[in-house]
Amino acid sequence: MFKRWRRKRLLARPFPDAWEACLTRNVRHYPRLPEDERKKLRDCVAIMVAEKEWVGCRGLEMTDEIKVTIAGQASLLLLGGDGRYVFDGVLSVLVHPDAFVTDVYMETFGEAWPRGPVVLSWRHVVAGGADPADGLNVVLHEFAHQLDGLDGEMTGTPPLGSRRELERWREVAEREYLRLVNRAERGQVSLLDQYGAANRAEFFAVTTECFFERPLELAAQHPELYALFRDFYRQDPAAWFRQGEGRPRPAGRERRQAPARDDDVEVIEGFADDADSPDACFARGVVNLQNGKFARALREFDRATALDPDDAELHHHRAQALFELGRYREAAAAADRAIALDPRDIEGYRMRALARFELGRDEPALEDWNRVVAALPNDAEARYERALTLEALGRLKAAVRDLTEAISLAPDWADPLLVRAEIHEALGEPEKAARDRTEAIRRDPDLEAKL
Ligand SMILES: [Zn+2]
Repeated sequence: MFKRWRRKRLLARPFPDAWEACLTRNVRHYPRLPEDERKKLRDCVAIMVAEKEWVGCRGLEMTDEIKVTIAGQASLLLLGGDGRYVFDGVLSVLVHPDAFVTDVYMETFGEAWPRGPVVLSWRHVVAGGADPADGLNVVLHEFAHQLDGLDGEMTGTPPLGSRRELERWREVAEREYLRLVNRAERGQVSLLDQYGAANRAEFFAVTTECFFERPLELAAQHPELYALFRDFYRQDPAAWFRQGEGRPRPAGRERRQAPARDDDVEVIEGFADDADSPDACFARGVVNLQNGKFARALREFDRATALDPDDAELHHHRAQALFELGRYREAAAAADRAIALDPRDIEGYRMRALARFELGRDEPALEDWNRVVAALPNDAEARYERALTLEALGRLKAAVRDLTEAISLAPDWADPLLVRAEIHEALGEPEKAARDRTEAIRRDPDLEAKL
């Protein structure tokens, strides 16, 4: 909850003109996107630039242009998401001026480690962004590995919402992977880069590049694979290229907050002709959720779960709408459903924990937070929320440990410092409490008047 609040404040600031010019120049997809997706991309860029640690290697001086270019290309992968996840597990991005040598003595231009930094070559980033249709983009490739690794391992099967989706993934992706291996072995040309034949994880990353860079050809030559990735990314890049043929849309100047969307949420591009599908209801539900229209969001998620009762993601979003409406008991029940369908659905545990805490069920809430923190150890928000639960249970020392983690994970967030200050008071350590409050004010000067 508080991470979203902090991000909301960040997103209220205007997006710099120079950054927008940089996106237009170096993220060649950007001018082709409809304005609502451009807005979403700018939001993801603002979050990534602010939250990641950006490191120039071998003398490369880190600049806004580098940050905005990389964040802009990576954010293309997130346009179908609900805006909450912005590569949260990637804490730092390391950028070399050119191809670099890894510890396995192989020349390379990109690397991704599970829960580790993304490492990129700036020269290859620029080359990959300059042509939106050459099928090669090292940023898309490396950040796709990060999505793949969200379930703990980079196996080529990203986390999926339901067992049905998982079965479909195994069937379609496996067949296409073996097809590519076959072609590579026989030296036949292929649309997909043959580096994807190295293993299933590379196949996922290479197909992602092709999906965003050569969607029309992928859709024509590998329709099932295209549909699989379209459903995973909840995006249809072929539409951008079809519409944009020869005349990219001019980049918009308007960057006001989206208007109160009472009217225009009814139709979302790409879903108009299929308005009663679970996907369409889900997409409308997410837009309503983001715009604070919780009752409408709930209606959409009610419909979506009625149409597709086995999708954990639909149920945890429904839980969120119920939670925001203060209907905690029902929120906990909806989250139960999500978890029953997919015991690895971390957002289900998060929603249930929040609801249980509000219901005063601190012990069960703590069990849920333990799961969330174990899966997402760098999630400052989860650490903070677990600390509140521990505090309610009187386990103050453990609460301090989580708050200390949250304080270092989110270096511009004041709330964990304020709570730690209260606990220091309660433990009879007023000097520590005073130090925390001073640091909280440094992080958020508006607090000075309130404290
Ligand atoms: Zn790779």
